[in-house]
Order: sequence, then structure tokens, then C-alpha cells
Amino acid sequence: MSAGTLTPSETRISGDYIEQVMAQVKAKNPAEPEFHQAVQEVFDSLRLVLQRHPEYRDARILERVVEPERVLMFRVPWFDDQNKIQVNRGFRIEMNSAIGPYKGGLRFHPSVTLGILKFLAFEQVFKNSLTTLPMGGGKGGSDFDPKGKSDNEVMRFCQSFMTELQRHIGPDTDVPAGDIGVGGREIGFLFGQYKRLRNEFTGVLTGKGLNWGGSLIRPEATGYGCVYFAAEMLKTRKETLEGKLCLVSGSGNVSQYTIEKLLDLGAKPMTVSDSNGVICDPDGIDREKLAYIMELKNVRRGRIRDYADKFKKAIFMPTDIKSDHNPLWNIKADCAFPSATQNEINAKDAANLLKNGIKVVAEGANMPSTLEATKLFLENRILYGPAKAANAGGVATSGLEMAQNSARLSWTRAEVDDRLHKIMIAIHDNCFQTAEKYGTPGNLVNGANIGGFLKVADSMLDQGLV
Ligand code: NDP
Repeated sequence: MSAGTLTPSETRISGDYIEQVMAQVKAKNPAEPEFHQAVQEVFDSLRLVLQRHPEYRDARILERVVEPERVLMFRVPWFDDQNKIQVNRGFRIEMNSAIGPYKGGLRFHPSVTLGILKFLAFEQVFKNSLTTLPMGGGKGGSDFDPKGKSDNEVMRFCQSFMTELQRHIGPDTDVPAGDIGVGGREIGFLFGQYKRLRNEFTGVLTGKGLNWGGSLIRPEATGYGCVYFAAEMLKTRKETLEGKLCLVSGSGNVSQYTIEKLLDLGAKPMTVSDSNGVICDPDGIDREKLAYIMELKNVRRGRIRDYADKFKKAIFMPTDIKSDHNPLWNIKADCAFPSATQNEINAKDAANLLKNGIKVVAEGANMPSTLEATKLFLENRILYGPAKAANAGGVATSGLEMAQNSARLSWTRAEVDDRLHKIMIAIHDNCFQTAEKYGTPGNLVNGANIGGFLKVADSMLDQGLV
């Protein structure tokens, strides 16, 4: 039987339908291990759903949901400061628009490939569904590395990137945002070029500056939301974040605002990192030290090792690419907030965290835990908040930015923060209750995957074979 030729009746009698679709995904998308991993994680949860809902199988929802509606891949040529021509590759994956316009960030990082962006776009579909807002899923970016580039080089790159992307996006079609390597500076350059080419001032990107259509709390939203989610998980065990020792990885947007909200709620964040190494500050990172990190990373665009020169009790541990574990996850703490990148917690790291008595893992980054690490967290019944639920506050607040743009008004900081907080509580409740309903109480991975899937799958059924 060849891939893609199974009829619904055949699949019903032919062993494990999910394994067959998974095998097709691997065969059709070779050399994309992160995409396989993201699909596998969702499919593992959907076994429980397909037993109760054969209609999804009959309508081939799984085969359809793994296939992007559209993949754009394009050349991005630009001049560097020496007037030399540079060429990068640009992408936009328009994954699923069943419940709204495509929505998801742009990542600029040398590790970006088609497979990385497909995993991110796939995750985004279910995450956006969980937010309760009408947003489909997409993701894009480039293998361009903004690190070490001048502002003018970043601008010329962004202008070239948007010159192609602009014909595919729009406020009711596809609304990109930031991700790794794309912050306020890049969104500004991208928005400027879109406006110039299209002669339209519209909410085509989120994460905009406050003077030109941005929303208060959008920069803070992913980190704040992740901490709100952790607080909800702790509430189910009648605990709070007060006094908890916390590990945070990364030192970019998500990490910075995770630390800020942890401080607001009385916790003690102790670590940050970047791709060169880890900082551990046994005294804790307070507001003054956080302000230093923000200035170092957002203004001077420096390396995190400088922190240890400034604050003498802190220890810097350089990255050892030969090591089988990350020392950050071997520090004794109550809560962990991985906020750097995919697969930054492997099985050894997860075992180290568990050995040291970790109670909470709330994922700010996308898919930061390998499948083996996730399994260990679930088996040990810690409070484990998977990325597509725990970091959904960022895209949720992007949705709030879109709503404000459509209404041509701006809400106050308190109003946006209150809406974000309520959305995170609702996402947690949905995941918690869905996990119970499908017979796996406390398993928020199943709760998030199933909760996110059902709304998308039902919308696809309603809209026919498109
Ligand atoms: P930033 O670019 O602001 O920061 C990323 C941080 O992670 C930096 O400290 C960076 O270090 C580190 N990092 C990135 N790649 C690697 C790597 N391969 N190895 C080690 N460290 C790495 O990005 P964000 O904070 O926006 O994003 C962080 C994570 O959160 C990503 O997984 C992203 O997809 C996810 N996320 C972001 C959202 C947002 O609203 N921004 C929303 C939801 C999820 P260095 O500077 O050395 O590269």
C-alpha cells in the first residue's frame, strides 16, 4: 500500500492508523526531525481522541493537518556594509487557516531550516486554538543571523525580506510577529517596508512599537503568561511561587519577562544563559540585575558572560558542545522555565532536574524538551506545562493587538495584562479539564494537544474538503 492511498475503511482495519500516518509524515518530509518530533507528540495524545471520534479519521483530518496549506521559500539578497552581496533564504509556512488568518512569528537565526519552521508552524496551529482567539497557524523566518550585524545591515536585510513577503501577507490573511532574533527593531524595519510597498497602514505585523499600532504588554506577554501558567499549575497543589527557587534559560525576550514576573510574585530566579554559556547567581537575579541584563542584551547586544564580571558572586559556565547535559538544569531548584530554544532539555537534563527535586517545568521556549525528557516529567507527575499551553500568552496578546488595531484604539497596560492573565487561566483550565475528560488527569500535554486539536478539527469538518 503506497503512502497517501489508504481509504478510510482500509485504515480502520489496517492496524494502527496513527502509526501509518506518522510513517507517511516521515517518508514525505525526510531530514526534518524536529517536525517529526512535534507531530509525534501531538499524535500520541490523539490516540485517545480517535477512539471516540472516528469521523476525524474518515475525513482524513490527520493527513490534512500535517500538510501545510502553503509553503513559501524565497531568495533574500542584500548588501552588507562592505557593499558585498549577501544571499539568505526566506520562508513562510502558512500551516492552517481553519479558525482564522495565519498567525505566528518570524525567526532569524542561522539554524533556521524548512523543517524547523514546519515544526514551529505545526505547534502554532494548536497553540493559537488554545488561546480562545480566532487565529490560524503559521511561522516563518530566515537563516539570516542578526548577531554582529550593524543596524543598517539588519534594515537592508529586513527590507529585502519584506519585498517578497508582502505579496503573501495582510491583516486578514497572514499576520507575522517576532521570535528568536526578531524583536522591536526588526519588526519596525519590516513594517516600514510593508507600508511603503503596499501604501497601507494596517495591523499586518504584531509586536509593533507603541507609537505606531503596538499593544502595551506585548513584549512582556510570553514571559508573563508562562509565569501565570506556572502559578495556575501550583494552585492545583495549593502552592504559590512565593519563595520558590527558579531556573530560567536564555536571556532574550521570553527570559527577561519571565524573570520580571517571577520577581513580582516573590520567587527567586537564579540563572540566565545564551548560546555561549550559563550564568548562575546564588544571590538571585533582582530588579537591578535584570535591568543590567536588559541593557546588555537589548541595547548593547552583548554576551551574557559579562554578567559575571559585573556581579562578582555569579558564576559563568561556558557552553561545552561535547557535554551530554546542560549544567543549568543540574542546579537545585523548585521550578524550571526553559526559555531559549528547542530541545534544550534532553533526557539527562530531565533526570538531573528530577534528581534535584524539581516541582514545576513551564516551557517558555517552543518544544524545549525532547520526547524522552517529556516522558520523564509525565512519569514523575511533576507539574509540567508544555509549550503550546504555557507560552501561548505571547500570541494571545498579539491577538489582542490585532483587536485593538481593528478597533483603532489602545487599551491600558492594566487592561491588556488582565486579559492576558484571564486567557492563561482559561488555557490552564481547558488543558486540565480536557486531560481529565480523556482519562489522563494531570497530563497537560494530552490536555493541550487534544484541547487545541478539537476546535481546529471541527472547523475543518465544517468547512468541507479545502
Ligand atoms: P530572543 O532572540 O529574544 O532570545 C533567545 C535566547 O535564547 C537568547 O538568549 C539566545 O542566545 C538563546 N538561544 C537561541 N538559540 C539558541 C541555541 N541554539 N542555543 C543556545 N541558546 C540559544 O528570542 P525569544 O526570547 O523571543 O524566544 C525564545 C524562545 O521562546 C524560542 O523558542 C521562541 O520560539 C519561544 N517563543 C517566543 C515568543 C515571543 O513572543 N517572543 C512566543 C512564544 C514562544 P544567543 O543570543 O546566544 O543566540
